[in-house]
Amino acid sequence: MIEYFFCTFAHEMINEYQLRVLPQVAADGATLRKYIAEEQGLAISTVKAVRVLKRSIDARQRTIFVNLKVRVYVNELPTDDEYEHVDYHDVSGRPQVIVVGAGPGGLFAALRLVELGYRPVVLERGKNVHERKKDLANISRTQQVDGESNYCFGEGGAGAYSDGKLYTRSKKRGNTEKILRVFCQHGASTNILADAHPHIGTDRLPQVIEAMRNTIIRCGGEVHFQTKMTALLLENQKVTGCIADEKEYRGPVILATGHSARDVYRYLAEANVQIEAKGIAVGVRLEHPSQLIDQIQYHRKEGRGQWLPAAEYSFVTQVEGRGVYSFCMCPGGFVIPAATGPEQIVVNGMSPANRGTQWSNSGMVVEVRPEDITSEKASPLAMMHFQEQLERMCWQQGNMRQTAPAQRMADFVNGRLSSDLPKSSYAPGLIASPLHFWLPKSISARLQQGFKTFGRQAHGFLTNEAVMIAVETRTSSPVRIVRDAETLQHVQVEGLFPCGEGAGYAGGIVSAGVDGERCAEMCALYMEKIV
Ligand SMILES: Cc1cc2nc3c(=O)[nH]c(=O)nc-3n(C[C@H](O)[C@H](O)[C@H](O)COP(=O)(O)OP(=O)(O)OC[C@H]3O[C@@H](n4cnc5c(N)ncnc54)[C@H](O)[C@@H]3O)c2cc1C
Repeated sequence: MIEYFFCTFAHEMINEYQLRVLPQVAADGATLRKYIAEEQGLAISTVKAVRVLKRSIDARQRTIFVNLKVRVYVNELPTDDEYEHVDYHDVSGRPQVIVVGAGPGGLFAALRLVELGYRPVVLERGKNVHERKKDLANISRTQQVDGESNYCFGEGGAGAYSDGKLYTRSKKRGNTEKILRVFCQHGASTNILADAHPHIGTDRLPQVIEAMRNTIIRCGGEVHFQTKMTALLLENQKVTGCIADEKEYRGPVILATGHSARDVYRYLAEANVQIEAKGIAVGVRLEHPSQLIDQIQYHRKEGRGQWLPAAEYSFVTQVEGRGVYSFCMCPGGFVIPAATGPEQIVVNGMSPANRGTQWSNSGMVVEVRPEDITSEKASPLAMMHFQEQLERMCWQQGNMRQTAPAQRMADFVNGRLSSDLPKSSYAPGLIASPLHFWLPKSISARLQQGFKTFGRQAHGFLTNEAVMIAVETRTSSPVRIVRDAETLQHVQVEGLFPCGEGAGYAGGIVSAGVDGERCAEMCALYMEKIV
């Protein structure tokens, strides 16, 4: 029996309903329209349009429902825009702000600066989002990583070739909705405004990112690729610009260089710009056949069937005082080589928009705090060094190529080397390795315990059909570039706005975008004082 609820708004021809329908009804606009007409006793010809405002899947019971909030237009067509658009005006000739990094933090900062009437000059060390793709393909082909153009560096930043998940734990809904609207304005599907767990997909993100760049340029801003910032222009604890490729760029600096710009952290430490060590999470990518995850999460043998998306999961537990949890789940996706330099292996995940591959993966990570790796007060770069050591050790275990050390999941829990490995989406290849033996005990023992707990919670999850691929280290920034909570300027250095994930103030695409906007707003206030 399908339940439904409805409320009628003042205008009698536009009604909003809360529906609870079967997946096949929700999957198709025509079927949904017919369903609503029948339920409401309306002639189908009078239902002119149906707009889905909210969509979520309820898979707690054997019968799976889709919860929808819909707006139904009876005898009239929608005249309003689906969402509020932002007006971007020409900012040519206006005072300029330097934005270092064209990830979500930097791009949203630049667009917000345009909105506020300032001219962004964006400097990005990597290539544009399309050229970058060739270097990503080369990693599997040549086993070499280009230090300036890879899964973390280049236009769109770390999130460009990803799953493009757009949910955040941030409570500031207004801000996160604005980020989603700006993505839609630049070509993302408006489904992201309705879905409870929106995602764009790695095949769609590049066009969206390119459109954002074009808005910046069309409005008079600048975007420079293959332009690496190497130093700040510092005068009496005040930033007046930066140096990139031996050229000076003048203006306050929004520093949005992401969690992998280790040269930037080293430079800041040497220049005595205050930074501090920050906790991270470290572990592996765990890859299951997606059909198995669908069967577990949808509680049925046939898995997702024709109408449901690849299933997601989320696990969290505590083992000996530290969190063990799944991270950045990519249903129907790929495990990818996300290193940013030679002699490192780093893994991560991405998915296409249809989440249609035969694998589902997630990071399975253990919380690591600065005090876990050193008994003394941690040096600001201590956690970064810890990441570097692990990534290098992993590269050595992987035969000094991008072939990643891997182990079947149940073998890992039982402390056994895997005699063979399942087929995997990880293109550079896998090599069987005793991860239980060489990963630091504080991580491997907690992962073993965590997996046992998750296996009890979800029958079939702990299985030798799943493979663990090492090592996932870039879950967040190992450093915080310390800033004032109100002005968002660096605590010591005027005119410097540490921004996004690399500064330690964001942990995903949307939160980096929100932080980018906030940094732009604070920078605009600063500009009002100095210009
Ligand atoms: C493979 C992968 C998948 C991910 N999937 C998701 C997901 O599905 N959902 C989600 O929310 N998050 C995801 N993340 C995390 C997300 O991408 C980041 O949280 C987000 O991109 C951080 O944004 P940012 O702008 O702060 O930094 P970044 O995106 O890291 O951008 C920093 C930019 O600065 C540039 N840069 C660095 N140093 C310099 C310099 N010296 N000069 C000039 N430019 C420089 C870099 O090239 C880069 O383009 C994923 C990350 C990876 C690696």
